[in-house]
Amino acid sequence: MAWLSVVTNWRSKRHPPGRVRRQVPSGESPRARLSKDTHIEYLEEFTCPQQYQRLVIGADGLAMKCSNDEENREVIGDIKQESIYQVWHGKNMQAVRDMHLQHRGFMQSAVCRKCYLPRKTEDEAAQVGGRTFIVRNYVHRVQQIGK
Ligand code: SF4
Repeated sequence: MAWLSVVTNWRSKRHPPGRVRRQVPSGESPRARLSKDTHIEYLEEFTCPQQYQRLVIGADGLAMKCSNDEENREVIGDIKQESIYQVWHGKNMQAVRDMHLQHRGFMQSAVCRKCYLPRKTEDEAAQVGGRTFIVRNYVHRVQQIGK
């Protein structure tokens, strides 16, 4: 069963009422900061499950393969022109699924290359208030607030 996520597009209305984005002092979202990383290690085998779970539709009717495309860089449909059913079963969405079925297929997408899901993680110990926690961090990710 697929879930339908309806979000407001980045360009059309970035911060709708009742929805709070986590931000750092610079004003960037965590996702925006992550996307600036240049030394990224990816999982050896990765196929994104989101292609079978959800569709993201902006207030302007444009459909994206997932919510990590906040800037509408890879639009797969427009529900002002076609039904949600048609977008979900259409050739653009199928092309996304086919791409992800290839070995390292996600690397073909600029949006997926900057996404957090295919990234390799490592566990590291962090001290907070005299207690030790294990934190799962992205490989090569600096642990500085706002970086
Ligand atoms: S951007 Fe991330 S969540 Fe979206 S399809 Fe690509 S890997 Fe999956």
